[in-house]
Amino acid sequence: MSEVPQGPFVDGEFVSARVHEPRPMINPASEEAWTSMSNASTELVEASVQSASRAFERSWRGLAPGKRSRILFEIANAIRKHAARLARLESRNIGKPIADARDEIALGATVFEYYAGAIDKFCGETIPVGRGGLDFTVHEPLGVVAAITPWNFPFPIACWKVAPALAAGNCVVLKPATLSPLTALVLGQLAVEAGLPPGVLQVLPGEGGTVGAMLAHHPSIRKISFTGSTEIGRRMMAAAAVDLKRISLELGGKSPNIVFADANLERAADESPMSVFANAGQDCCARSRVFVERSVFDDFVERFVSAAEALRMGDPLDPQTQIGPLVSSAQREAVLAYVEKAQSDGRKVLKMAQALPEKGFYVSPTIVVEPAISDPCWLEEIFGPVVCIRPFDEEGEMLAEVNRTSYGLSGSVWTQDIGRAIRISRRVEAGVLSINSHSSVHVQAPFGGFKQSGIGRDLGMHALHGYTETKNIYVGETE
Ligand code: NAP
Repeated sequence: MSEVPQGPFVDGEFVSARVHEPRPMINPASEEAWTSMSNASTELVEASVQSASRAFERSWRGLAPGKRSRILFEIANAIRKHAARLARLESRNIGKPIADARDEIALGATVFEYYAGAIDKFCGETIPVGRGGLDFTVHEPLGVVAAITPWNFPFPIACWKVAPALAAGNCVVLKPATLSPLTALVLGQLAVEAGLPPGVLQVLPGEGGTVGAMLAHHPSIRKISFTGSTEIGRRMMAAAAVDLKRISLELGGKSPNIVFADANLERAADESPMSVFANAGQDCCARSRVFVERSVFDDFVERFVSAAEALRMGDPLDPQTQIGPLVSSAQREAVLAYVEKAQSDGRKVLKMAQALPEKGFYVSPTIVVEPAISDPCWLEEIFGPVVCIRPFDEEGEMLAEVNRTSYGLSGSVWTQDIGRAIRISRRVEAGVLSINSHSSVHVQAPFGGFKQSGIGRDLGMHALHGYTETKNIYVGETE
């Protein structure tokens, strides 16, 4: 098995025909080209969708649930067996710290195990209808699903989409982000080696504007399952509207971290830096707006700074590293522009003390203290290691400010008062809330956003529903 895939994976094999010229892939830690990737041509996209449609009819939709389940368990086993290789690939591809990459590969395997086990527990209903007889529902697969994924958590997000879609009996055409196609391609290969019929999962590296747009508009695609920016999410929704494709959108965020004076301040401050600086801040759930009750504001900021300064930044392949480089020089420039704007507006900007490695797209973890509520850094998704911290005096005003954003993905509430914790978490407009914790992702629980953070849910049994149509069947009494 070749260590680094270099082109699309279609009908059970890597293909080198109907692809574009190879383009260099840059390692974000060294800034050097280390491998290359050939994107799929439009002819290959067309052939892949047609072939996935045939695989749906011939081999996958009719396969007995028990057999489907066994194949998904085998895919999970294969992911675990190849975990070290997958983690290394992810780390070199996007600069993700290797310890995080290992966790994310394991998470992908767990997702396959969860949906493998869910297949024979995903039941319809029998309904006592007025005219007697027998009325029941079945979950029908949709057909071919296009899964379009971002570069920040390439492997787990691919698994969040592919595993439930396959479990429900669909075929999938997966388009990973241009910057991060490698582990998705290996997933395709491992799945076929684990027994998935060729054509059921096609993996097409290619640019969003061509391959992604073509999938989103393709008449044989029945659902777009998209994770990425809100801006492209809107385009996906417009594309889906043409022929009323099913759609799920997991989009951007600007999530609050709300700290009350009665919180366990030590824990809240110790754990909060990694709720925004993990993955170098390139996290849709990043708690990038911190609201701290005024009486403990200075204390909290001091503790937050000292916890942030202790984070280890450096070579992503070093198992001790907690913060790696950003994914690209363009991403670094975009993030630094927010920091420079805050500085030129005269805000208090604290850059953490870590030395920046000589090479690589690194940005120092940065805290903007008390920005104005009209500042771009307070309002917009930065997608880098930058956090804004503001004091609040009164609960109602704080909640109004929390909910003023158009996003609504996640958030945290820190308090020892359980009544207040529940009251606040019910009123924050977000799909995923944590109390005295920053944990947002649980394989068994629904994940997704309110407002412009998305539509639909990944993970848990909710995701399975999203990859099926409910059909009602009535059987009349014969006599
Ligand atoms: P992005 O630019 O929206 O891209 C996401 C995916 O869409 C990529 O595969 C991209 O391909 C593709 N794409 C771009 N233009 C397209 C088009 N016109 N038609 C079809 N597909 C198109 O997002 P990103 O920069 O990769 O990821 C960062 C964003 O994702 C952030 O906003 C983050 O909050 C969000 N995100 C959300 C979640 C969640 O679960 N809510 C999770 C992770 C990330 P290319 O790579 O070729 O551009």
